Amino acid sequence: MSRIAFLGLGNMGMPMAINLAKAGHEVIGFDIVPAARDAFEAHGNSAATIGEAVARAEFVVTMLPAGKHVREVYDVVLKQAKPSALLIDCSTIDVATAREVADMAAAEGFTMLDAPVSGGVGGAAAGTLTFMVGGPAPAFERAKPILEAMGKTIVHCGFVGAGQAAKICNNMILGISMIAVSEAFALADRLGLDHQKLFDVASKSSGQCWSLTNYCPAPGPVPNSPANRDWQPGFAAALMLKDLRLSQEAALASGAATKLGAEATNFYAELVQSGFGGKDFSYAYRFLADLDGNGE
Ligand code: NAD
Repeated sequence: MSRIAFLGLGNMGMPMAINLAKAGHEVIGFDIVPAARDAFEAHGNSAATIGEAVARAEFVVTMLPAGKHVREVYDVVLKQAKPSALLIDCSTIDVATAREVADMAAAEGFTMLDAPVSGGVGGAAAGTLTFMVGGPAPAFERAKPILEAMGKTIVHCGFVGAGQAAKICNNMILGISMIAVSEAFALADRLGLDHQKLFDVASKSSGQCWSLTNYCPAPGPVPNSPANRDWQPGFAAALMLKDLRLSQEAALASGAATKLGAEATNFYAELVQSGFGGKDFSYAYRFLADLDGNGE
């Protein structure tokens, strides 16, 4: 069993750290919010500073909001951790920052993996997250048993930053496909076509996709989709906007043509600006139906 510092005990980090502790690891948690540190005390030890948390840790896991927080925290980690510690950043951040931070770590003699996740808060609690990992193969092998205590599917995507690249490419597909399915249901409403009938046809035809069959944005056809609980998240529209913006930064930096990715980013920005950032991202359907003057 290993000694693991876990930095960032938020919606995702708290259940992930708890699963590590349940697997028998010695987990020392830290968050800038004292209440989060106190809450973790029921499951492991909490530390009052980052330095205290990482001092004797063999692994340092971070689960922070964005790239700037990761950079801030790493400024301290790289000064205070043991150089033999393996650094694993599970936050969703931009590819450029992930590579920069890994270079900073390497300059101080550390190895770092980027290991963002999909599966949301439910997956974090159930220990069924998917990890997309970038970094050297030996470090991946060393991290795998730790990641397996928090997730079900662990994929080595390649070089440092490849985990973040996989995450934003996947979520760009998801953002675009959710809008496509939502537009189809909003059009069906206008044409007087029943939700269930469109679902019965499209789910067995070439329009089939995850956004339709697992997460239908219109109420009715998929009983456990957020559409049936007033679009409570799930995966909030504001988080989808964050990931789409990361995809567009990466597209700009690499010269990739992502026209629908750009449209999807603008669409979710409008949805968030209209006050629906806290709704599930499948609120796209309700938003489109309302814009048409055809809301429910
Ligand atoms: P969150 O805001 O709930 O948690 C982040 C935590 O980091 C907070 O508790 C905050 O106090 C802490 N923090 C901020 N700055 C810190 C610092 N300098 N030192 C220590 N702690 C600090 O966010 P979350 O929902 O847990 O998401 C974390 C990451 O996971 C994000 O990058 C997000 O994009 C990604 N993610 C979230 C979901 C989801 O459904 N929530 C799904 C997949 C990926």
